[in-house]
Amino acid sequence: MLICTSGLHSGINPSPGVGTARSIKDAFPQAHIIGVDYSTRCSGLHSPDLDEVWLQEAWQVIDLDQYADQIRLLLDEGKLWISGLDLETYWLAESIGSHPNLLVPPLEALKRASKPVYEIGHEYDLAIPPFIRLTEPEWEIHKFCRRNDWHCWVKGPNYEAQMVRDWSGFHKARRKLSATWSTVDDLFLQAHILGLEECIAFSAYHGELLGSAHMIKRDVTKENKTWAAKVSPVPEDLSELVANIIHDLKWTGGGEFEFVRDSQGTLWLLEINPRFPAWIYGATLAGINLPGRLVQAATGDEMLPQRRASSEFVRIVIEVPVRDGYNLPPLQHMSIDERDSGLKHPSGMPLLSKRLRGTTRKIPRVPTSHDSIVPSAIRNAVQSIKSESLETPAPVLLESILQERIVLLKEALARVSNDRVKVTVAYSVKTDPDSKIMHMMKDHGLLAEAISQLEVLRALSSGFSPSEIVLNGPGMWWPENETPSPLHAIMSDTLNDLEQLVEGSRQRKIADVIGIRIHPPDVESRFGIPIYDYSQFDRLVQIVKRCPPDQAFGVHLHLASSRLGVKRWKHMVEAMLHWAVALEHLTGVPIKFVDLGGGWFPDDFDEVFLLDLPSLVDTITRLLPHVTEIELEPGKALVQPATCMVSRVINLQESEAGTNIIVDASIADLPQALYFPHRLLFRSKATGQWLAPRNGDWRVTGRLCMETDVLAEDIDFAVHPQIGDLIVFLDSGAYDRSMSYDFGKG
Ligand SMILES: *Cc1c(COP(=O)(O)O)cnc(C)c1O
Repeated sequence: MLICTSGLHSGINPSPGVGTARSIKDAFPQAHIIGVDYSTRCSGLHSPDLDEVWLQEAWQVIDLDQYADQIRLLLDEGKLWISGLDLETYWLAESIGSHPNLLVPPLEALKRASKPVYEIGHEYDLAIPPFIRLTEPEWEIHKFCRRNDWHCWVKGPNYEAQMVRDWSGFHKARRKLSATWSTVDDLFLQAHILGLEECIAFSAYHGELLGSAHMIKRDVTKENKTWAAKVSPVPEDLSELVANIIHDLKWTGGGEFEFVRDSQGTLWLLEINPRFPAWIYGATLAGINLPGRLVQAATGDEMLPQRRASSEFVRIVIEVPVRDGYNLPPLQHMSIDERDSGLKHPSGMPLLSKRLRGTTRKIPRVPTSHDSIVPSAIRNAVQSIKSESLETPAPVLLESILQERIVLLKEALARVSNDRVKVTVAYSVKTDPDSKIMHMMKDHGLLAEAISQLEVLRALSSGFSPSEIVLNGPGMWWPENETPSPLHAIMSDTLNDLEQLVEGSRQRKIADVIGIRIHPPDVESRFGIPIYDYSQFDRLVQIVKRCPPDQAFGVHLHLASSRLGVKRWKHMVEAMLHWAVALEHLTGVPIKFVDLGGGWFPDDFDEVFLLDLPSLVDTITRLLPHVTEIELEPGKALVQPATCMVSRVINLQESEAGTNIIVDASIADLPQALYFPHRLLFRSKATGQWLAPRNGDWRVTGRLCMETDVLAEDIDFAVHPQIGDLIVFLDSGAYDRSMSYDFGKG
């Protein structure tokens, strides 16, 4: 009995070869095990459990056809092959196909079970985590991150996952994984599911399930790889599900289902690995010898009964002698990158990925068009700008778009306001204090929200009366000024501010409403009163109790959902409301005003927040029955899409990696380019034609000699740009205006 088992690495991110060999030895002590791998860095090559090793050439130089012939020959001679490497499995299924001694799944099964297990999830009605493919425009990917609370994984088609918590983290992960696996379009972004991981290892022969084992992690490495675990028989409902899927896929070989169970008990299918898991000997120790059963089914020889040593296993680190003739190369000959990927993937799977994809330096892209993400109203407004005569770079306010957004908002407010409670809006002055914008807000009857005395003055000079101004923030009294009174509302950020406000309002009316900004627990923020700190909460109660009876009191929350995520924001609002209920109860002071701050990305405001608003108003009035006004403070949700930045192409740089278009705008004109993708329109000077971009490998960079001056990436245009063509950056109102700066202009 001769058995080849590949994937021998045995580091902190191990392959299953060694565990497979040990399991087979338990079942068939006479078996002769040949370990196969592609670098002496695969530490398991030196394992005493192997009778022989075949160290093959590295994947970038190996003659794949000849290697396939060689393997076919040894299969014909009666040797078995159990692959422990996902991509080798794929390659074997493709180039050798069905052979009774090749113990890997058929190609069709590998395709159907491939990440993100969408097909299997759908067919078997299993929950799979939300995902988006990187074939989508960046605009959609950014939205996916916001809607999934900026807690996502960029995942490779076969291996590797990198956590993404912000936009630059996404770019970093995409760069890293696309360089490693030679693809962008086969990468995807998956929402993180909070819960505990469970795995099922199995073995199967021609669609028949030979056995399975259920594993729950007890200890993990930094990379979340199993270090200790409990193994038990698979619960009946799950083993039936696994049997059905395996039967359907006509599976042969080992495999593993990875799940996460969330706090509600829902089991989410994360992936199906086409090989035994690295912890497979842990299952053998628990009395479930899956590689043994696989060999038994393939050969017809009877295995020894497996003794159960323990239902739990741990890993330990031990030193073993290096096998004679397989000395290790020195470390210092590798660059840091090589070292990183060489140590992480010693079996050379990135090299095989590159071979199988047949790519050179350039990674091909699906040219997904961005037409559908540019609303026609914005496209029309941009096309009607007299751009020929513009001195670029030039920000242009699209008044019709702003008008449209304000009207939409007012309609939504009218739908939720009633006799008992009215929902109002205060425009955040700091977001963009442009005088035309301020006047439009005033003309539409909105309030103004200021964070300093200078902003109060700005609001007054734009026509707002004191009773139409809301004051907020840690520096709201700066600079010293005779603040007009009464303002509409003042929300204090600190207890000291609140104390002064309460004492002041016992003398005279400072504002229709006074109140506090709440910092709810479990969220990182510098702002608001940390009500979860008992001594602060206690002092808060004492101060609020001193409010004069005719003074309306309110609570305020401002956490940006664009940064925090849409679902977490909602959760924080609910937390804040419950703390407000407690405050009302303990002080006897009714809460009449709820101020929900701002921070919504425009699409989230339109597509989620405004749709949820009726139910949010219901919740607020149910929990806090004295509330008469709910105030919102959108800034960027209103103005971000209403300004565009017109720029001209001033230079072009071609390289192997793609085209670099250099424009006269820069990160100084579009400081938010670092934080979210801006939609684009392109106009060819020669044809006068307007185009939305497609996904591609070009970059648009600014005029500055600064590495960070990258304004757009991952795009191209159907026509090659010429110097003098226009590139218009949409979504460049809000902080792109108020935080822009003069730089590199002499
Ligand atoms: C900045 C700010 C806003 C507006 O934020 P946007 O991100 O522009 O929506 C609203 N309320 C307060 C208290 C703010 O500080």
